[in-house]
Amino acid sequence: MLTFAPGPSKVYDALSTYLQDAFNEGILSANHRSGPFMKLYQETESLMRQKLHMPEDYSLLFTSSATENWEIISQSIVESASFHIYSGSFGKKWIGFAQHIIPGSGGIKIDANEEIDVENLEISEEFDLIALTQNETANASQVPMSVIEAIKEKFPEKMIAVDTTSSMAGIEFDFSLADIWYASVQKCFGLPAGLGILILSPKAIEKTERKGENGRYNSLNFMIENARGYQTHYTPNVLGIYLLNRVLKDMPEIQHIDANLRVRMHKLENCIAKTKSLRMLVTNDATRSTTVMGVTGPEEVITKVKSEAKAAGMELGSGYGPLKPTSFRIANFPAITNEEMDRLIEFLSKY
Ligand SMILES: *Cc1c(COP(=O)(O)O)cnc(C)c1O
Repeated sequence: MLTFAPGPSKVYDALSTYLQDAFNEGILSANHRSGPFMKLYQETESLMRQKLHMPEDYSLLFTSSATENWEIISQSIVESASFHIYSGSFGKKWIGFAQHIIPGSGGIKIDANEEIDVENLEISEEFDLIALTQNETANASQVPMSVIEAIKEKFPEKMIAVDTTSSMAGIEFDFSLADIWYASVQKCFGLPAGLGILILSPKAIEKTERKGENGRYNSLNFMIENARGYQTHYTPNVLGIYLLNRVLKDMPEIQHIDANLRVRMHKLENCIAKTKSLRMLVTNDATRSTTVMGVTGPEEVITKVKSEAKAAGMELGSGYGPLKPTSFRIANFPAITNEEMDRLIEFLSKY
């Protein structure tokens, strides 16, 4: 069964080789304070620069998941309170975690088709961090880089943190627009779940040091201290880090992946526009996600498409939450080959 679910999603076809290599190379038993692990960490960070264009002075940290990153940001970076701009379930979960740690955290909810109105956006003094879900996996919407840029220009004194769990390694980012970027590997990286990625600018590290939060197993100061020597604060998911390293090594530079995903997205949009009863879930081009495509239609058609897809060996992602009966989602992730995407598009064209 080929899955188009947007997480956990299809893993790269080369994974079986990578797994065998990990075993053969002995990395799975390597001590995380040893030379081979430190080399793996250092090389993976440098591959993030080469392939994803992470800036030279930004640091790569390993966590367990994007969910853990939600907590770490409030616990260890936010000094007064965070302000969240969100449209769907993942953004809503993030503000929920933030308010649990810092009750004064606030924000605004917008519609999936609504562009953030930066010109009229007011964020008061008490908020020192702006939280954005760049790609909202739940409702298939996204915040373009140009909007993040406008927010940065309007609020230069506030720090921006960006959830890119379902877009990092799929679309190209301008990392210089924000100080905190994070993801987990079971989406666009095409890897099995169990590893989170946290990327910090020097300013984000400075802010963490100024806050000085310490004493928890995942206190960011403790993590940063270890990362300086390419070590981790606890015995890490070495297999996950090894697989990430191999995926990065084998992937083309991000601008090529980005261009290919956009071509596939337009093909799918054209196909859906020509169908009798299906439409794109997000109607606004400016907020429609590139990596997670939502398709909507009458409930009976959606049910039929999903079951007939299954019979044809393809699993579609269900709609999320309240959108479940009337939509499905398609992961336009790089581990899905162009041939596989074409096969799906051809299948959908008959509805
Ligand atoms: C999947 C997802 C998460 C949660 O990721 P975990 O690795 O399960 O913690 C958070 N944010 C977004 C946007 C996601 O798509």
